[in-house]
Amino acid sequence: MEARDVYYSDCNAPWTICRYKDSLIDWDRAMLVLGKIPVGMRQHVAHVILAPGSYAKKKQGIVAETKGPSTAFLSAMSIGVAAHEFSHILDAMIGSRRHGNKKLSDSPKWIQFYQNDTMVPTSYVASTLSNNRTSLVEDFADSGRWAMSNMARARTQASNQPPHARDGSGGDPFSFQNRTMRANLLADYSANWTECQSQITGYRKLLEDLIFPPGGRCTGKAATSDAVNTTTGQRVHGMVGAGKHKLRSVGVAEIVPADWAMEIQFPPYRAST
Ligand SMILES: [Zn+2]
Repeated sequence: MEARDVYYSDCNAPWTICRYKDSLIDWDRAMLVLGKIPVGMRQHVAHVILAPGSYAKKKQGIVAETKGPSTAFLSAMSIGVAAHEFSHILDAMIGSRRHGNKKLSDSPKWIQFYQNDTMVPTSYVASTLSNNRTSLVEDFADSGRWAMSNMARARTQASNQPPHARDGSGGDPFSFQNRTMRANLLADYSANWTECQSQITGYRKLLEDLIFPPGGRCTGKAATSDAVNTTTGQRVHGMVGAGKHKLRSVGVAEIVPADWAMEIQFPPYRAST
């Protein structure tokens, strides 16, 4: 396995990506897709792992798995799959910050967003139905996948307009009100999206300002986990990269998840890429 520290221009801290030699996903793909994820979401990702090809074959149909703040991609790494998996990470990490030992998808607010709608975003979410209730973690993650598309399109459109046209009041072109006015962009690719708009706009209300921090730079970085010796299993801090993993040394605050959030294992994602 090879590990690389990958730097993006919006953060002084690196992301350590680990790739098994026979992974179906190549380095260029992984670095490109991770870089396209908005920094406020990306900064909560501790590690990206490109799983062995043999493991991907054995787990056919599963594209990615997330545990705590790290995601393993098995057969594909697309922006959509990353948006789903990293929404799981925000679900746990931000939930632990805002709701004690609760995921965001477990909060009364999310349950209300879910109950306001008659539909869920994808058939994958519907397939997780159990005891007459959709898996709220999967609902949250695929709502995130949709909301990310919507936010990206709305913000691109706002950026392309002349400043005076962005906001009648002369205020922030990305103000929530202004963005909400463009929420119907999803209608371009799903005729019935309004049936789940409470979930999509709910996700944006909870996380948009965090996903797109002012200034477009990271405000922290999920703590890098210790390296583990392959023969002894001993954990060694800073073994890879000779100490430069200490985020404090590059002036970026470490985001340290609660212990329970570190251990959450989300259901494997079975979706088209
Ligand atoms: Zn999932």
